[in-house]
Amino acid sequence: MQILDGKTLAAKIRKQAKEDVTSLKEKGITPGLAVVLIGDDPASHTYVKMKEKACEETGIYSIAHKMPSDISQDKIIETIEMMNLNPNIDGILIQLPLPPHIDTQKVLQSVSPQKDVDGFHPFNVGNLVLDLDCFAPCTPIGVMRLLEEYNIDPKGMDTCVVGASNIVGKPMMNLLLNKFATVDICHIHTKDLAEHTKRADLLIVGVGKINLITEDMVKDGAIVIDIGINKRENGKLTGDVDFENVAPKCSYITPVPGGVGPMTIAMLLANTITAARKR
Ligand code: NAD
Repeated sequence: MQILDGKTLAAKIRKQAKEDVTSLKEKGITPGLAVVLIGDDPASHTYVKMKEKACEETGIYSIAHKMPSDISQDKIIETIEMMNLNPNIDGILIQLPLPPHIDTQKVLQSVSPQKDVDGFHPFNVGNLVLDLDCFAPCTPIGVMRLLEEYNIDPKGMDTCVVGASNIVGKPMMNLLLNKFATVDICHIHTKDLAEHTKRADLLIVGVGKINLITEDMVKDGAIVIDIGINKRENGKLTGDVDFENVAPKCSYITPVPGGVGPMTIAMLLANTITAARKR
């Protein structure tokens, strides 16, 4: 069993990002990322802080637009439209989830597709489905980059994605399909989850449920990617996979923390630099 070490790879990508930013700055371009943060969800604040710190270390200019949870949808969209026009901003990120009175899709669709570094705009979603040049969501592209680093080619593999959200599972499915994997995608209404997971050479799980995937649900020698982030009662982070019992059966597995998580932020920096190059 080999660990897929996202922490080390993310550090390598961030080092490269720093060099790329330095050379862009020599050409007079400072990549800029704007983050919209609404309300006071502690997890969202933590994620935004991590993103700001990563930008700072890389030399990317970042600005966080923090707004109260009772802000109107019009005001949010007005702020986004201002950033769409701001030539110093290359990427715009809307920290999710948004408060219940806000129509998330309307807000995401107000971001210019050229600045949509999270890949959530229907323009980019459509291009991803068609396997055309686009911004794709950072977590699933982080998974693809991690597989590539370990020379794991999903072509022809039986893969199973558990979790079918717009930001994790669905784009993961499309990225795998674009690499010619056979993709099975499961969600809360899947009748017999184990029936699907047991067939997978490559099992990717992004649900948000501790120990959802147990040893009996995994094929011998499978590659297991755990996207889930859950907090245990003792405050420690853990994934969706029962790592201790599943790992001995795997050929490769990601740890939580230190697997997919650090890759997500690294890919956000990479997408922001790509957007700046297209300025
Ligand atoms: P979400 O709640 O939007 O979606 C969860 C998905 O899991 C849904 O498709 C749902 O149908 C499915 N699901 C729920 N219970 C299930 C069950 N018992 N069996 C099978 N499927 C089930 O969540 P999300 O935003 O996609 O995030 C999923 C997980 O990934 C969370 O733990 C989140 O914290 C984590 N996450 C991690 C990163 C990272 O950087 N590592 C990034 C984004 C999300």
